[in-house]
Amino acid sequence: MTEETARKVDMEKIVSLCRRRGFIFPSSEIYGGLSSCWDYGPLGVELKRNIKEAWWRNVVQERDDMVGLDASILMHPQTWEASGHLKEFADPLVECKKCHLRWRTDELKDDSCPSCGGELTEPHLFNLMFKTFMGPIEEEASIVYLRPETAQGMFVNFQNVVNTTRKKLPLGIAQIGKAFRNEITTGNFIFRSREFEQMEIEFFVKPGTDKEWFDYWLEERLNWYVKLGIEKENLRLRQHTKGELAHYAKECYDIDYLFPMGWAELEGIANRGDFDLTQHASSSGKSLDYFDEEAKEHFVPYIIEPSAGVDRSALAFLCDAYAEELAEGEMRTILHLHPSLAPVKVAVLPLSRREKLAQAAKQVHADLRQCWMVQYDDAQSIGRRYRRQDEIGTPYCVTVDFQSLEDNQVTIRERDTMNQIRLPISELKSALAAKLSGEPLFVLPPGGQIWKEEKEV
Ligand code: ATP
Repeated sequence: MTEETARKVDMEKIVSLCRRRGFIFPSSEIYGGLSSCWDYGPLGVELKRNIKEAWWRNVVQERDDMVGLDASILMHPQTWEASGHLKEFADPLVECKKCHLRWRTDELKDDSCPSCGGELTEPHLFNLMFKTFMGPIEEEASIVYLRPETAQGMFVNFQNVVNTTRKKLPLGIAQIGKAFRNEITTGNFIFRSREFEQMEIEFFVKPGTDKEWFDYWLEERLNWYVKLGIEKENLRLRQHTKGELAHYAKECYDIDYLFPMGWAELEGIANRGDFDLTQHASSSGKSLDYFDEEAKEHFVPYIIEPSAGVDRSALAFLCDAYAEELAEGEMRTILHLHPSLAPVKVAVLPLSRREKLAQAAKQVHADLRQCWMVQYDDAQSIGRRYRRQDEIGTPYCVTVDFQSLEDNQVTIRERDTMNQIRLPISELKSALAAKLSGEPLFVLPPGGQIWKEEKEV
């Protein structure tokens, strides 16, 4: 049994674990890093892939009313004029006349520089979009922007999607992709970076049904985080005040998570009304109406947008999963990640490096890795290997011991309870598949038994 001693975590512990175990590194670290850009290492990339996969399965694969899209990052510059980004996507900024640091006006406590106390310039608007040039000669090339959100790719493709899928409303388009914002204030690790990934849904509905769908998506999206293991009390819904509402939004809520630095936005859910399609239709001259065949009427759909960040989700899942626990008289660091998010699902651990045992264990490893990400680890004591796997959130360890060579059985050890069962190797794959989908460890496969550690050879 384990005793939980600390659940609240400070950011330094998460940053240190991510660095130490290869989840996340500073970008271009050998050159001193690049401010607010991060590289996902071998475990981080698996975690991110699993988050995106869980989202895609939930919002696209398992639904009749949603399809996917992968639009290009660079879009026609007129997109950003029509969307309002060229004019509105800006923060008021001041610069210190002494140290030249720049600050967002909403961050200032008084009219002096928070860093050196120096005098500040008058505020001016600073657009958050990154500019680049398209074409071989910079002077003649046209300016294009790195998209600051994936959403616009879905608005401009609305008619393409409706025509090619022949689906009726309500209809959602879902997309996962990179977005870029030249954020003025960054920090808090991967919470706010200049290059990040979004998972966005644009859900097109008939005007008049928008409130109902807005409420539906609030609940649906909140539940997604809870189903994947985030504690309910660490999540809250926060409604935007009138003054806070973005230029396109009729109504907006944030799903906030209690990060180590406090409550902050994990996902935004907005009722965008008909703003986007109307803007793009008038700017492009192409109709973006929808024809309702039953009612025989044309209308511009309203859009409900649940917009989530992959990186912020990764940070929230890591913070929520992190614990330091007293287990058998020793402290262990553990990530209680949901099995579907864990970067490594199973570790195969031979009790010794002796050849015969290694051969048998490698066979088990080769067999299991066809289904999941599986690690093979034969370095140091079995206790240390278990701790290493606990720290990266591996749900199950399979131990191959000398007795395995005689009885063709192995043990499975569960991360959270440290309970073990022993079972025939022939049952291992199906048993792990069942456990990873939520079956309790002590539901035994044929020939399986509850295993006490003192019985280990
Ligand atoms: P914030 O108020 O924190 O700047 P926002 O309201 O501008 O966020 P949205 O435009 O609603 O964010 O973007 C949707 C989601 O994209 C956010 O909920 C967040 O998860 C993610 N996101 C936005 N900006 C960043 C960023 N700079 N770094 C990482 N993720 C981000």
